[in-house]
Amino acid sequence: MALSLDLASPDSRPRVAPPAPAERAGDKPSLIGLDREGLAKALEDVGVPQKQLRMRVTQLWHWLYVRGVSDFSAMANVAKDLRQRLDEAYSIARPEIVEEKISTDGTRKWLFRFASRGAGRPVEIETVYIPEEGRGTLCVSSQVGCTLTCTFCHTGTQKLVRNLFPDEIVGQVLTARDRLGDFPDAATPAGAIVPSEGRLISNVVMMGMGEPLYNYDNVKQALSVVSDGEGLSLSKRRITLSTSGVVPMIPRAGEEMGVMLAISLHAVTDELRDKLVPINRKYPLEELLAACRAYPGLSNARRITFEYVMLKGVNDSMADAKELVRLLKGIPAKINLIPFNPWPGSPYECSDWDQIERFADYVNQAGYASPIRTPRGRDIFAACGQLKSESERLRKTERVALEGIAMPADWGHEHAR
Ligand code: SF4
Repeated sequence: MALSLDLASPDSRPRVAPPAPAERAGDKPSLIGLDREGLAKALEDVGVPQKQLRMRVTQLWHWLYVRGVSDFSAMANVAKDLRQRLDEAYSIARPEIVEEKISTDGTRKWLFRFASRGAGRPVEIETVYIPEEGRGTLCVSSQVGCTLTCTFCHTGTQKLVRNLFPDEIVGQVLTARDRLGDFPDAATPAGAIVPSEGRLISNVVMMGMGEPLYNYDNVKQALSVVSDGEGLSLSKRRITLSTSGVVPMIPRAGEEMGVMLAISLHAVTDELRDKLVPINRKYPLEELLAACRAYPGLSNARRITFEYVMLKGVNDSMADAKELVRLLKGIPAKINLIPFNPWPGSPYECSDWDQIERFADYVNQAGYASPIRTPRGRDIFAACGQLKSESERLRKTERVALEGIAMPADWGHEHAR
């Protein structure tokens, strides 16, 4: 564990409430990620009269989330004097893009840096864009590092630095849309691989760095902004929150956020899951699956996705497949089989391809969709479980060694866990 935290009690989990502007010493508070009430309060604080608040909130919301501006001076229908006051008091800037890597398959990975908060230091996180036919998925981070230590996950080796704030979570979506030219009047970069029709970012998955249910309030607020019908307007059916299994928070997430749920399952016995996903020691399989069965809104049209990383000789036997089907009985579910993506020092190997297919066939014949994740962005370390931002970068020798691991060209997967 990176930090000494009692994960058993939801009340003692690391919660960071969205900061009030006054709490942000040393930098201008961001207007990004505030709800309408918060935005109205911010406007009131710079002298906007009460009777204008609603109209001004609507104007700003449109500029921020429909037009995607990152500079107050672009807000043409806002009086110059008000734009100036807003600029003096607040920020709508994007994070710094430290690095942008583009895979040969079109997957993009950004290393974003967020300014320091108060006495804290600037932090860096990774966000990944995966274009496919008919959809573009953005994999968003919720924490810098992670308190959990799932043994197959590279992020799990990076200590938790802090939770991300709503502006930093929404900022990942806005900046990705900037870079893809996905706002009105913006052009998509020449040669970019994007879906041939529809929105360039059509889906958001909270599957990047961190455990989103340990940053509940900030994630909830950010997702309410991302799904707001008058702004970024992403349907909740196209937003997926992935958890390693923070059982006490699952019903609340279903009721309050109403987004799609994914579970990092990866094992079908407590004995093994205790090792692969150590939060299982607090919330064992029986409790986790009971929470899934009771997930609000669960139906065949709103299935739960179970992520299952394929580890050679560890969790990939036919007995495992059989037990998986037995465990999930009665839960409308889809099972994503994820060929393991190695990282330097990782203790596992990816299952043989034939075995993955046999496993998938069995699960599929039992009536569950069981797609095998196609490899995305392996050449830029953007694949599932490979995200890590710390300054502890790969040494060149490690990178060369990793890139030299012989695997079929079509292996890998898109999600960070
Ligand atoms: S899989 Fe998710 S919860 Fe587990 S260590 Fe990685 S980022 Fe944390």
